[in-house]
Parts: sequence; C-alpha cells; structure tokens
Amino acid sequence: MKNILVTGGAGYIGSHTCKALALAGYEPITYDNLSTGHADAVKWGPLVTGDLHDTQKLTACLDQYKPLVVIHFAASAYVGESVINPFKYYQNNLGGSLSLLEAMRSQSLDKIIFSSTCATYGMTDLQLIDEACPQQPINPYGKSKLMIEQILADLSNQGQLKQISLRYFNAVGDDEDGEIGERHNPETHLIPLAISSALEGPELKIFGTDYQTPDGTAVRDYLHVQDIGKAHILALECLLSGGESNFINLGTGKGHSVKEIITCLQELGISVRANKAPRRAGDPAFLVANPLKANTLLKWQPEYTNIKDILKTAIAWHTKA
Ligand code: UDP
Repeated sequence: MKNILVTGGAGYIGSHTCKALALAGYEPITYDNLSTGHADAVKWGPLVTGDLHDTQKLTACLDQYKPLVVIHFAASAYVGESVINPFKYYQNNLGGSLSLLEAMRSQSLDKIIFSSTCATYGMTDLQLIDEACPQQPINPYGKSKLMIEQILADLSNQGQLKQISLRYFNAVGDDEDGEIGERHNPETHLIPLAISSALEGPELKIFGTDYQTPDGTAVRDYLHVQDIGKAHILALECLLSGGESNFINLGTGKGHSVKEIITCLQELGISVRANKAPRRAGDPAFLVANPLKANTLLKWQPEYTNIKDILKTAIAWHTKA
C-alpha cells in the first residue's frame, strides 16, 4: 500500500486532500486530535486520533503505517485569534511541527509536504506575490508558519529531509460531490458567513472599506479546495521522484474583493445581508499569488478558474438540507 500520513486529515483542506489521494491510488492515514476536525470527514482511510505534541504516539503511527511521505496540515489557522492568543499559535503550530519532525527523524522518514500560507508575506505593494517576495508576516499565525518554513529549509540544507512547502492563498469551495465540505466552528471565513447571512445567520460584517484597493475592500486570491488537494498529489510525486525541496505559492493569480464576492453571490441568487465594519486586525489589503512556479515546476493548473463556479460549490454545500 502507498500510505501517506496526513496530519489534520479531518479538517477542511486535509479531508479534501485525503479524497484526492485516494482517487490517485494512495492510502491516506489521518492523524488528527479532532479539536477542530470532524471524524466523519475521514472517509478514505484510517483515522488515528492523537495530538501532534504526543511524539510517542506519532512515532508509533509512523512505525505502524510506514508512510512514504507526511503531509502536514494540522495547525491552528485563525488569523484573528492568533493576534489575541499568540501563544496557542506558537505552541500548536511550531511546537506541534517540531514534535512531528522528531517522530519522523526517529523513523528515518525524510519527506514532508507542509501547509504554509500567503500570510507569511504580510503587507506588500506587489500586484502579484511571487516566492521571492520578502516574508514579513503581520500576525502570529503567519509568523508561526514562516518559522516552520525556516526550520524545514535548515534541515533540507543539511540534507536531512526533502520538503515542499505550499503557500496557500485563500482556500474556498467544497467537494463537488457534496461528500465533505467546510465546517469551521466558529466559522470566521468570508464565503460561508456571506452565504449564512442569506439563510438564518447574522449579517455579514465587511471588515474594512477604506483599503487602498479599487473598491476599498480587501482583495484575496480565492482558489478551490479540490485544486489544492490535486496540488498535493503533484508535490508528493515530485518528492517521490527525487525532486528538490521548494517553497511554492498556490493561487490562481486573480484577485477578488470582498464586495465582488458579495455581488457574485447575489448574482447566483444568494441575498447576502452585509454591513460595513472596521478592519480586522492582522488583515493585509491585497494578497494575490503569482502562480508561475506551481504551473511550471509542479505542472499544476487550477481547474476552477471562474469565481462563480467556485461559489456554486460552496452554495451547494452550505444550503444542503
Ligand atoms: N472578511 C470579511 N468579513 C468576514 C470574514 C472575512 O470582510 O466576516 C474578509 C477578510 O477581512 C478578508 C477576506 O474577507 O479580507 C477573506 O477573509 P477570510 O477570513 O475568509 O480568509 P483569510 O484571508 O483570513 O484567510
């Protein structure tokens, strides 16, 4: 069996990637403490319930399943919360990753794909962010992810592992078969909250209308979660075929403002109820990827290239009876 260990496989991006792995002929072994993930999202391989800090349990899991590669999603991932409770982010993200790396070392497992983020870039004036753009994160979430990237780079430079860090821009949308989807608690993300405002949820707050962007609201590069899953298969195959360590953006290269997302949803029949609100701490104005490296090096192209097609999958999931 071609086993792959997936930490955080019960989460949103993790579970979609497990499905992509299974479709590509791999066996995803999910290792998840279920603090934010859902056991019923683990449908394509076994679930080992455990915490990243439990190095012994992780080691035993690696010993039992002998995965070819580790895909490391498990992390705390709320930008706003990270500003208020930074220690949690350093403890879970940095501490958890060190424990994972220790377990991998003890089992001589030397290949890892790491979930990084565009939040490692922080503020930038660039219209398109490429991997050489300076990384100056403005919130503890982004800082914790950058620290892990740096650790991975050091280990890789010493020939102690091979790693591909994928810097995701905004993961959105849901499984097109409706088998899994975005279920955060609390939900803080734009698209689920905008859809919920049209159902029984509270009004959406538009965080900041005075940004230096064309309509004053923040611009993000929204990419479909299934396209992220597929990128992991390509990264995995790159490492398995002797590919070098790398840091790679995952984005579409197209930006959409908060107001544009609301308008698109309205055009798709979702009557978003929204109101202006102050900026959210830690939010840059503009984050859009230059995806050239992913296109050329991984031969990755997003299949979802139209924001409305992406939004339709989110609407289908969030309005499912
Ligand atoms: N946003 C918003 N209202 C919300 C949630 C998000 O205006 O209730 C904005 C947020 O400020 C950002 C964009 O929507 O500019 C995407 O935010 P989200 O939380 O979905 O993802 P993030 O960029 O934080 O990863």
